[in-house]
Amino acid sequence: MIKEILAKVLLSSVKQPDPWFGLKYNMNLYRGCQHQCIYCDSRSKCYRIENFEDILVKANAIELLATELATKRVKGTIGTGSMNDPYMPVEARRNLTGQALKLIADFGFPVHVITKSGLVLKDLNTLQAIARVYAAVSFSISNCDDDLAAKLEPVASPVSERFAAMERLASRGIYTGVILMPLLPFLGDNEENISAIVKRAADSGAGYIIPSFGMTMRDRQRSYFYDKLDELFPGLRPRYEELYGDEYHCSVPTAGRLSQVFEEACDKVGIATAIKPWSNNDAPQLGLF
Ligand code: SF4
Repeated sequence: MIKEILAKVLLSSVKQPDPWFGLKYNMNLYRGCQHQCIYCDSRSKCYRIENFEDILVKANAIELLATELATKRVKGTIGTGSMNDPYMPVEARRNLTGQALKLIADFGFPVHVITKSGLVLKDLNTLQAIARVYAAVSFSISNCDDDLAAKLEPVASPVSERFAAMERLASRGIYTGVILMPLLPFLGDNEENISAIVKRAADSGAGYIIPSFGMTMRDRQRSYFYDKLDELFPGLRPRYEELYGDEYHCSVPTAGRLSQVFEEACDKVGIATAIKPWSNNDAPQLGLF
């Protein structure tokens, strides 16, 4: 079900410093996510999204964003894509992300987008305009196998399409890379997969790969994931239960070795293992806008 809601605030402040992406603000134009990845953390109770399958469209998002950007005294990177994918299928019709990026370009703010969709290419020109300040597009990819990814991330673009989109962005000078997380125990936590991701990222023009050799699990997220394991990968759930119990941070059993393989592979092809965040040293004055 897709329905409209009215939001009170659009940009939320990110606790400083943000060690992952250097974000100052976070922006969610929708609630819920159509991609339905079986491991998604946004199902956790703490986010208070009762029906993650329902997509709530923030109908007043663009008006709110215009007002908020005009009154922000501190410039900083606006992140989108942590609680839902800004390029899930509904975006093709509603274009909220596209409109928001145009405003961000007008106001001269830096942006960091996380997605699992090739639909991001519809905003190529706008991202290129934002890149005069700073634009980073990170593709979430933790498996090189399209068939396996289709089970884990049923509505997201095939991994091959994500790499193709990355190549296109890079060819237009947009800073792009991979967020290699979560890495699921027994579902891609092997050297071949890690090496293949690094190679394909390098071939596609990635400037960075940010890894995490494991996953997180809690309450509703865990129960949904385990139900899906029973359905799609019979026999795997008991191995998880035995290994992790109620733990939140669940490192893959081979994390140490895979981390080494990853570092060596990145070193070989010259890819950074962290993102270069926006720096405000050359920031234009907000008063100009
Ligand atoms: S794309 Fe991201 S937010 Fe959407 S279901 Fe997948 S992991 Fe969750």
